[in-house]
Amino acid sequence: PLNPLFPSPPDWLLEGAAHLWLPYSQMQTTPMTLPAVKTEGVRITLADGRELIDGISSWWTAAHGYNHPRIREAVSRQLDAMPHIMLGGFAHEPAMRLAKRLADVTPGDLAHTFFSESGSVSVEIAMKMAVQYWLNQGKHGKTRFISFRGGYHGDTIGTMSVCDPEEGMHTLFKGAIPQQLLADLPADREKEAALEAFIAEHAHETAAIVTEPLVQGAGGMVFHEPAVLAKLRALCDAHDILLIVDEIFTGFGRTGTLFACEQAGIVPDIMTLSKALTGGTLALASTTARKHVFEAFLGEDPDKALMHGPTYTGNPLACAAALASLELFEEEPRLEQARAIAAQMEEELAPAREISRVRDVRVLGALGVIEVDKLDDVNWFKQRFVEEGVWIRPFRNIIYITPPLVTGKEDLSRLTGAMLKVTREWA
Ligand code: PLP
Repeated sequence: PLNPLFPSPPDWLLEGAAHLWLPYSQMQTTPMTLPAVKTEGVRITLADGRELIDGISSWWTAAHGYNHPRIREAVSRQLDAMPHIMLGGFAHEPAMRLAKRLADVTPGDLAHTFFSESGSVSVEIAMKMAVQYWLNQGKHGKTRFISFRGGYHGDTIGTMSVCDPEEGMHTLFKGAIPQQLLADLPADREKEAALEAFIAEHAHETAAIVTEPLVQGAGGMVFHEPAVLAKLRALCDAHDILLIVDEIFTGFGRTGTLFACEQAGIVPDIMTLSKALTGGTLALASTTARKHVFEAFLGEDPDKALMHGPTYTGNPLACAAALASLELFEEEPRLEQARAIAAQMEEELAPAREISRVRDVRVLGALGVIEVDKLDDVNWFKQRFVEEGVWIRPFRNIIYITPPLVTGKEDLSRLTGAMLKVTREWA
């Protein structure tokens, strides 16, 4: 169907809409998506010239806003020299430099990075690494994973098995694909004891615990104290289980520190990154392991190697973009900006607490959430936000923003103002 927000779409949209299968969309009823033709800073320009302020950084990627000249130049230079070459048998500077940079910026002795092209795949690789870590040491029974209710780690079959099967996006698959061991992230001491018992019971068969640090994102923007993550680290150590921390959403300043696990003072055994890794420009993901994990794959035996190799692993353009993005984190005050966004959101979203049907208002770093009792019509919200000139996409009962970290005061006020206005209208 035509989109009431864009009744006269360009030809290319009219012609392509019948053929492009959209993400997370019921193709029979979903209206045509909005034609975007340009992005700059925190703004998205539509084909008719209208501008939207992006409140969600294109699925949490565009940390420096769009078209940052620094990243554009780095990619453009690399495009001239060598857009791609296979990493099997060849070395190239962007991948080598990026692997080294990631070793420098990630916590502790996380130092050995495997590249892929999407967050889901980087989690798959982390899971495969964890199982093989034990196999390589002759431990054949440790093949399962413990993950958490409310968790989200991707859409592939393997990652779906560590997502929440009840609440998430894959409920239809419940029972149809194997589910890994599911636990509750503890909210209090009593739950902590239950988790301890659960982990003790399953330790002998568990390769790794998989968790999002501090925030369960797509599962409902649920916050957890850093102490919970520290507790998981301690339990993994006590029970010979690896800890996989999925920083795909939280990484690169979203929670106010470069990585969320810094706030718990812990080092995971394996960390996954994607999304803002290239500042929202090219598809790239990383799976970074600590020294002891990497060393379990070393030896004379070729079968002990990690048998994985996506065709585009370490793509030079994407690695060049990521290097430029990391430089920006160093040279520009991104983390201070994230914390300033947090302070402004705390203040500006607070009045939402007075709105009936609002259950909670919470902020962590550059993530602001209004949780309501139940959103009956998410599409109404999406439409109203576009009418207000902002790009905000509520899901389930969550109205949230994850703006680019460079969002200025006025633009941020436009976003929070729209959140309050539209939520009030609805309530
Ligand atoms: N893990 C987390 C925590 C995520 O938030 C996401 C995406 O939202 C993924 C994994 C999956 O990443 P991708 O969509 O790039 O496959």
